[in-house]
Amino acid sequence: MVLADLGRKLNAALSSLNRAPVVDEKVLDALLKEVCAALLESDVNVKLVAQLRQKVKTKVKAIFESSGDKTKEANRKNVIQKAIYDELVSLVDPGVEPYKPKKGHPNVIMAVGLQGNGKTTTCTKLAVHYQKRGFKSCIVCADTFRAGAFDQTRQSATKAKVAYFGSYTETDPVAIAAQGVSKFKKEKFDVIIVDTSGRHKQESELFQEMVQIGEAVQPDMTVLILDASIGQAAEAQSRAFKESANFGAIIVTKMDGHARGGGAISAVAATQTPIIFLGTGEHLTDLDRFSPQPFISKLLG
Ligand code: GDP
Repeated sequence: MVLADLGRKLNAALSSLNRAPVVDEKVLDALLKEVCAALLESDVNVKLVAQLRQKVKTKVKAIFESSGDKTKEANRKNVIQKAIYDELVSLVDPGVEPYKPKKGHPNVIMAVGLQGNGKTTTCTKLAVHYQKRGFKSCIVCADTFRAGAFDQTRQSATKAKVAYFGSYTETDPVAIAAQGVSKFKKEKFDVIIVDTSGRHKQESELFQEMVQIGEAVQPDMTVLILDASIGQAAEAQSRAFKESANFGAIIVTKMDGHARGGGAISAVAATQTPIIFLGTGEHLTDLDRFSPQPFISKLLG
């Protein structure tokens, strides 16, 4: 189920509450059943869904019991709707502030993720985003694994009018990353984005490489690029990257497609790491800032 459908289903469930003449535990249970089914269909992890159900029930019961029969039906409905809204927000909010680039400082951002997740595209989108906000931005292509990776960076960076660094001859990604970052630091760039290689699956060589590049460039922020369409696999993938690359932020790509999106939500909880942007298309400006409350409000329409 794509995200827009999830929104519609959640909305339908919540508005069915408005039609209920009496709000009792049975109504609450039926509503939660619908909400949880919609979340599960969107690939949100089953444990997280069970927790949400339990937390809403506990919260609502406590409020009903403390206010007794005095609680009017309309108020009861509000209590339930607010409890569900708050729990949906906390699903996508680990309560951790992501790193914010600072002016007058070379902010090094390292992008990690599996091949095809949209890393190279997102690196350019990020550079465009920061460049527009007055940060002199550039990209270092440290992907020596995929043939054509540097050409792709060169083309998209040129199109975006963003400085770039890479090599056709150097085969050591750690050396390229270190050289590129050092060059751009000397040239007083504000945002230096390091694009790393991906591989098709989680392999120990890839993780070792992430650790070595991280040690060489000392990123201020490492960001995991996660494809929304991988569904439930997002959780295991994000856990594996967290152990080696210890990323501090997530960017979920391909939110414009037929992705269910719930896997990415589970990745937030699995790694206690915030989403900072959503990729919403193939164009360089298709990058939306992510904040938990507006996201859930928009989802619920
Ligand atoms: P990498 O291997 O991780 O560097 O992935 P690429 O940046 O090469 O992207 C793989 C494919 O996904 C390309 O065709 C991109 O145009 C596409 N892509 C990346 N981000 C998005 C997005 O947000 N939405 C859509 N629809 N496609 C995207």
